[in-house]
Amino acid sequence: MKPNVINALLLIILSALALCAQERPAADLIVTNAKIYTVDKNQPKAEAVAVLGERIVGVGTSAAMDAWRGPETRMIDAGGKLLLPGFNDAHLHFISGGLQLDSVKLNDAGSPEEFARRIAERAKITRRGEWILGGDWDETKWNPAQLPTRDLIDSIAPKTPVFVGRYDGHMALANSLALKLAGITSKTPDPAGGVILRDPQGNPTGILKDAAMDLMFKVIPPPSHQRRLRAAKRALAYAASLGVTSIQDMNPEYADVQVYSELADLGQLTTRIYAAPLITGWHDQAKIGVRRAFGSPFLRIGGVKAYADGSLGSSTAYFFQPYTDDPQNRGLLSSEMQPLNAMRERIMKSDDAALQICTHAIGDEAISITLDLYSDVLKAHGPADRRWRIEHAQHMAAKDFDRFAQLKVIASVQPYHAIDDGRWAEKRIGSERIKTTYAFRTFLDHNVRLAFGTDWDVAPLNPLLTIYAAVTRATLDGKNPDGWLPEQKLKLPEAVEAYTMGSAYAEFQDAVKGSITPGKLADMVILSDDIFTIDPKLIRNVTVERTIVGGKVVFEKTPGQ
Ligand SMILES: [Zn+2]
Repeated sequence: MKPNVINALLLIILSALALCAQERPAADLIVTNAKIYTVDKNQPKAEAVAVLGERIVGVGTSAAMDAWRGPETRMIDAGGKLLLPGFNDAHLHFISGGLQLDSVKLNDAGSPEEFARRIAERAKITRRGEWILGGDWDETKWNPAQLPTRDLIDSIAPKTPVFVGRYDGHMALANSLALKLAGITSKTPDPAGGVILRDPQGNPTGILKDAAMDLMFKVIPPPSHQRRLRAAKRALAYAASLGVTSIQDMNPEYADVQVYSELADLGQLTTRIYAAPLITGWHDQAKIGVRRAFGSPFLRIGGVKAYADGSLGSSTAYFFQPYTDDPQNRGLLSSEMQPLNAMRERIMKSDDAALQICTHAIGDEAISITLDLYSDVLKAHGPADRRWRIEHAQHMAAKDFDRFAQLKVIASVQPYHAIDDGRWAEKRIGSERIKTTYAFRTFLDHNVRLAFGTDWDVAPLNPLLTIYAAVTRATLDGKNPDGWLPEQKLKLPEAVEAYTMGSAYAEFQDAVKGSITPGKLADMVILSDDIFTIDPKLIRNVTVERTIVGGKVVFEKTPGQ
């Protein structure tokens, strides 16, 4: 090479280097000294991550990431702790959860006096027109263990209707004002399947059992905008404390989405939300041209949630064969499925509008029919990237795993339900069907994509409990310490993948989140312990040290917490 050519080359290289040095801005945040499990196969492990704005710009060694450091860069030393992509809960009910957090807590009220005191306190901060709900009281903790009556609370909340439930959901206590609003008097007959408890004079004591509670539910007004807003804020703070950086809200009411939109505008969403309202209202989204996963990084719509059947707990999940413990009963298809043509039409139209379809299906026949419907759409409309989902997908017919995979349906599952239902499921459906129940391993073996969620507030929101459930399958009653149907256990990397990339894929966001990868949104969580090295039984005790969403710390454990 002639010297002038070398000079020219050198000049180019030098100016390129200068350009690099000049153009690389400093990071806003660098997390160093972490044990990073990236969920990115190209670079599975790292020590440090650099964030610019809301995105990850670098992942590597602490020394390499130091090159991103500038005078304004916030440095977080993770103290060698485990850093994961933030958890993405693919199925929950966010406002219900928030309302529950925001309601009066009576479960640990150890006496009638304490019970009354808590309701009195709540009455003071309850706005006019709002009800005091929630509760979960348990009179067996009192001495003597007597059911409460309206007399206990009438004088302390005379202007606030009160209807607080027993922890088992089978009875609730109303005050006199609530009884009056519901029109329940000494003359009201007990409804079928319910009891209005009465005193010796025949007057209602305030306790309503089972179907009698419906008389009250009919008159309780839907939550006000303010109440929803408060619930959303409680839920957001709670999600942040648990490392949940994205949620997928199933069948929210439109008023809930309105609250999210308001919070997004104010920059107060600390968890990213994908909302899938009921499919019966598919036209509302379709008519303005909203398509699957439409919106901003913080708030998106464009999904629809359908119901194919009921639940195993209430013996309404729809099976090919009768319940083992109830030979006359195969469960129930939902009202949306009757007639089936109405459901087919809704699904076809939703697909025409490019809305994503998420169908609740629990029993094997309900799942099978849902797959039939999806396959009808495929035949009619041809292939596309639809990411159809079946929510719960609990009890699979063995023949349907292949179809599930061929149709590229995502199994949106909640492993906590497995360790809960695992206590009694076999009595309901027998030893054969149980083999393909909560069959997470079989799904993966068939190359079905899994997305993890909790179904909060039906089950706890804590992702570590869900991961614990998926890897141990140890039922809540302690009777299966080595796992209930242990062959269906997942390995920890599979569980983490399902909770991050799997859930991101299920909401069309795998290109922008779900792993610690340069270019992706900086959503991450630092845990108290390394779940990859501790005894899996201890995973449920692991807590969150820090939660980061879009490069901002949204939760930080305070000392002593
Ligand atoms: Zn649900």
